[in-house]
Amino acid sequence: MGGRSRTAVGIVGNDGAVDPGRFVGMPGVSEAVPVSKPYKQVSREWKHEATIVELPGGARIGDGSVTVIAGPCAVESREQIHAAAEIVHELGGHVLRGGAFKPRSSPYSFQGLGERGLELLAAAKQATGLKIVTEVVAAVDIELVARYADVLQIGARNMQNFHLLSAVGEQPRPVLLKRGLMATVEELLLAAEYVVSEGNPRVVLCERGVRGFGAHARYTLDLSIVPAIRESSHLPVIVDPSHATGKRAFVAPLARAALAAGADGVMIETHPDPQQALCDGHQALDPDEFAALAAELRALAAHLSARPETVT
Ligand code: PEP
Ligand code: MN
Repeated sequence: MGGRSRTAVGIVGNDGAVDPGRFVGMPGVSEAVPVSKPYKQVSREWKHEATIVELPGGARIGDGSVTVIAGPCAVESREQIHAAAEIVHELGGHVLRGGAFKPRSSPYSFQGLGERGLELLAAAKQATGLKIVTEVVAAVDIELVARYADVLQIGARNMQNFHLLSAVGEQPRPVLLKRGLMATVEELLLAAEYVVSEGNPRVVLCERGVRGFGAHARYTLDLSIVPAIRESSHLPVIVDPSHATGKRAFVAPLARAALAAGADGVMIETHPDPQQALCDGHQALDPDEFAALAAELRALAAHLSARPETVT
């Protein structure tokens, strides 16, 4: 792995078997560092510099800027996704979200438009220039989804679908990996390791809340995972306050808190008409609410970037 001033060579599959002392003193070796964590390649020990994930065509996640990913829970119609894309684009968002294949808790809920949804996302991208992130729920769909998406999302419920993780690791599209509903930071990083160890280093982690006991919000947003990931891993991390809270009124305060905690970006659900949404309407910001939040995030990002210690 080439760094700015040194090249790191990593060895895996040798837990405890190799004495680092054997390498020290060899020509060209400045130090030998045992990687103590079970997740190797995503650890800070393996690579100290923060990873910047480049999306096809330019946008960068993890470069110290704040990435705003926004859009509806699901693609519902041409009109809906175009209206959402216009709003996200006009308000300075970078990536349009929208599920075409939806992992729903109930088999009777709207499951997404499938390939038609992907085509509508591609048309919205064409119209606005926004990048597209959309979920892939099964390995057989990866090729299809990757034809339309700039970033492949692995949902919380699939964070430990190891076959799917390996399969997205075998292709080049960046991967947005959401934290499982009850996953520890170690489990999340091991899930990322599945992707990276197959050859795809372009992984962005996403905190989206974990199961708690409170009834005031859908999940408990665990912002402490942001500095925990920073400490243990070089991968960028974004925060999704929409799924974490399940409540429109809670989204903006927690989005602001996410940036203050050092997240590389946020993922926000917004819908041109939340009352009519086929999925997660209660947590979607309407266009005015999203506009207000986008302005706040811009101001906050400018303030935070003036504080060098917040950029790792
Ligand atoms: C989503 O972002 O569309 C989604 C289903 O979220 P999660 O996997 O975090 O529940
Ligand atoms: Mn949703």
